[in-house]
Amino acid sequence: MDRLSFLTELDSKVVFSHPSLSAFRCGGNIGAVIFPTDKWELIQAVDLLKRAGENYKIIANGTNVLIKDEGIDGVVICTKELKGIECNENVLYVNAGESLPKLAKLALERGLSGLEGLCSIPGTIGGGIAMNCSAYGRQIADVIEYVDILVDGEIERIKACNMDFSYRHSCLKERGIAIGACIELSRGNRNIIARDMMAYRLARQKSQPSGISLGSTFKKAGEVSAGYYIDKAGLKGMKIGGAKISEKHANFILNTGNATASDFLELGNYARQEVDKLFDIKLQYEVDIF
Ligand SMILES: Cc1cc2nc3c(=O)[nH]c(=O)nc-3n(C[C@H](O)[C@H](O)[C@H](O)COP(=O)(O)OP(=O)(O)OC[C@H]3O[C@@H](n4cnc5c(N)ncnc54)[C@H](O)[C@@H]3O)c2cc1C
Repeated sequence: MDRLSFLTELDSKVVFSHPSLSAFRCGGNIGAVIFPTDKWELIQAVDLLKRAGENYKIIANGTNVLIKDEGIDGVVICTKELKGIECNENVLYVNAGESLPKLAKLALERGLSGLEGLCSIPGTIGGGIAMNCSAYGRQIADVIEYVDILVDGEIERIKACNMDFSYRHSCLKERGIAIGACIELSRGNRNIIARDMMAYRLARQKSQPSGISLGSTFKKAGEVSAGYYIDKAGLKGMKIGGAKISEKHANFILNTGNATASDFLELGNYARQEVDKLFDIKLQYEVDIF
């Protein structure tokens, strides 16, 4: 991609015409993906893009991102290589690209409690903060002390109370790029933490399908799961192309092998339309569509 060839001067790895980064395993190629491994590489990349007048998107593990079939004619900064965890007793500084399951495993090894409910969410810390991910009554906001965010070339330290955390929302997406976060856990009994993590894993296996998906497709409507309405609309098992509404959990759209992003969206939009028609409920996508 000639327009983006200036990116070769970066210290970070850059891959041109990169395949989709969506965990739904569909979507077109991306003009260029930059993989910074530390904050200096990230600052350098953002600075160069700004000087070139080139916009960019952020993707980490892509477990909540659908990339359209036409792909992204531009730049993505992928934050999943921003690795590193520093532990000081029960306080951890975690770089944005570390995965939640890895962090939860470390917490278990050290007898630290607070991440049990979140231990199987397949995203990174940065993605988790952007989405305020939650499960089994715990949200990531509960354990965050502060987040370091790259805003206009400067790193700002934002306390959790100023992150505007709410259901599937924080101010991160509007503010900038998370570099890392300070997490405070509490001392716990290792056996009890292990037991609880196992119970949450089993509960997930029992209620959620194991195939390729982006987790919940839609946000809850008030206090009610979107899956409840999709199920009541009789849409479990419905298929468009390679995309299918799970029979196990109606809020999950599965890629049965060859789904396109258009299949996902056609099916999602149909479910939304039926739920609106039958219950006068307007479902909102939880999944980010790029
Ligand atoms: C099988 C499965 C189960 C799931 N279960 C749950 C669940 O129980 N609860 C739940 O809440 N979610 C769940 N999810 C959804 C998803 O895993 C979470 O939303 C997760 O937090 C996304 O993390 P990610 O690293 O994959 O982010 P991505 O999907 O890559 O990105 C998500 C959003 O965050 C932004 N973002 C990512 N990193 C940064 C950063 N460093 N700085 C600024 N913005 C950033 C992106 O721009 C994008 O808008 C599930 C998904 C799957 C596939």
